[in-house]
Amino acid sequence: MSEMIKKIVIVGGGTAGWLTAAVIAARHATKSDKSLQVVLVESSDIPTVGVGEGTWPTMKNTIQEIGIKESDLFSRCHAVFKQGGKFVNWVHGDGDFYYHPFTVPLGYGRLDLAPYVSNIEDYAIESNFQHHICEAGLAPRTMAEREFNGQCNYAYHLDAGAFAEMLKEHCKQNLSVEHVIATVDKVNLREDGGIGSISMVDGEDLHGDMFVDCTGFASLLLGKALGVPFIDASDCLFNDTALALQVPYADPTDPIASHTIATGQNAGWIWDIGLTHRRGVGHVYSSKFMSDDEAEANLRAYLGEAADGLTPRKIKYESGHREKFWYKNCVAVGMAAGFVEPLEATAIMLVEISARYIADNMPVDDAVMAITAKRFNQQMDYRWQRIIDFLKLHYMLTKRPEPYWQAHGNPDSIPESLKEDLAIWKTRGPTSSDFDSAIELFPAASYQYVLYGMGFKPDFDKQSYLYQQNDQAQQIIQRNQQITQQMLQTLPPHRDFIETWLANQR
Ligand SMILES: Cc1cc2nc3c(=O)[nH]c(=O)nc-3n(C[C@H](O)[C@H](O)[C@H](O)COP(=O)(O)OP(=O)(O)OC[C@H]3O[C@@H](n4cnc5c(N)ncnc54)[C@H](O)[C@@H]3O)c2cc1C
Repeated sequence: MSEMIKKIVIVGGGTAGWLTAAVIAARHATKSDKSLQVVLVESSDIPTVGVGEGTWPTMKNTIQEIGIKESDLFSRCHAVFKQGGKFVNWVHGDGDFYYHPFTVPLGYGRLDLAPYVSNIEDYAIESNFQHHICEAGLAPRTMAEREFNGQCNYAYHLDAGAFAEMLKEHCKQNLSVEHVIATVDKVNLREDGGIGSISMVDGEDLHGDMFVDCTGFASLLLGKALGVPFIDASDCLFNDTALALQVPYADPTDPIASHTIATGQNAGWIWDIGLTHRRGVGHVYSSKFMSDDEAEANLRAYLGEAADGLTPRKIKYESGHREKFWYKNCVAVGMAAGFVEPLEATAIMLVEISARYIADNMPVDDAVMAITAKRFNQQMDYRWQRIIDFLKLHYMLTKRPEPYWQAHGNPDSIPESLKEDLAIWKTRGPTSSDFDSAIELFPAASYQYVLYGMGFKPDFDKQSYLYQQNDQAQQIIQRNQQITQQMLQTLPPHRDFIETWLANQR
């Protein structure tokens, strides 16, 4: 007889652990005797990674689902709106930039504007208003819109430490999650190879029917105890080190960018994320192409006086993911499952997706779990491949001359699936039919913004009969200009909006 799943043990109290606990408990853990018992174990001796401040628009649904008010997220986590990413110095390295905004181009789904814009690198400027809103430093909504609504699509930038604290409090006070503070020392396997219990340093054992590995890079359960191999992606994505800093504003009224700024460097890039009380700034780079000292010098040059007196924290990582994400009665979520550089803030988004899948498909017993695991693995494998392809797309079209950037164009470093996409996009841009899986992460619009922003222009003349809608396209481009002007006049400055809105909530 297959055992019923009654108790789920999550190991790890970083963003992945607490978010997973919240999503599962919000659905399954009630105060009734029959509900699922959710226990989270975290070590007080092993710190969380403490970065991960850019999110994806999926976070709006996630925090609603788990019962957190948006204004609480802003006030507790020093959060701000994120309207997309600005990629500076990725094409030539001479101050060039383009946006990957969260709002899809005007006319998306009806007409691809790319053949009709005057300059392909300006695709996001001519097809979408959000570039202009971000450049003007405006919020995506006015006081007239309700929580979770905006005139442009958005996600959040948030303080990672404060976010995990807020989730912890919410899980314990409102969602019946049990919290155990202990360091796991040993993972005890059952006869069938699944996990039966975990042993703590203090000698206590904790049994569970199902385990979620949220132990970060350690991957203590899935990787170490169950021996699920790691698939290395470093031959495609070269970065393996980060230097991270928390940078105070010179003046507390300084404007806050409502987008992540990713500025290309000679062998990597610098992220810049504005929160209400500080910025999170860091350099991701490849140790094969650049020393730590050079990376720190880049970071200091980028920040100028703002970096005086600050010492960066170094984080080493391996790019890649586990071969399987769910094995026997253990599923890994967060960095225990895998990690690639935070160029498109995909990590927390994958945590949300994984947690929701587990909650939606909570297996009733071990027999069903094997089927659920197989399906989950298929989906996650596809998503990781898509993420790796999408990140690689940001690099491989560069015209920068440095060896690091040139190496990204080496065909041996480009996944076959991306080469196939590129072969098709040579004569037409990405369309929704290229991304028709129900589990797709990025829509065709995301690929369009990056592909065209990097200056890749398909040879539309090869099938010119497909592109005979110039009048309609010019109307959409004009309409975009009108909407942009309206929004520039009505949307408030980002910091002003947040301060006034939060003051009104008190
Ligand atoms: C430089 C950098 C920048 C990033 N930026 C972004 C971003 O902008 N957006 C984004 O989405 N993601 C980003 N990420 C990823 C993001 O930080 C993580 O996905 C997120 O924080 C989740 O981490 P985690 O919970 O998996 O791991 P961690 O935060 O490392 O937590 C691991 C937990 O496991 C516990 N633990 C470990 N071993 C044991 C043990 N033996 N016993 C008990 N407990 C144990 C620890 O105590 C800790 O609580 C970034 C990552 C890096 C490295």
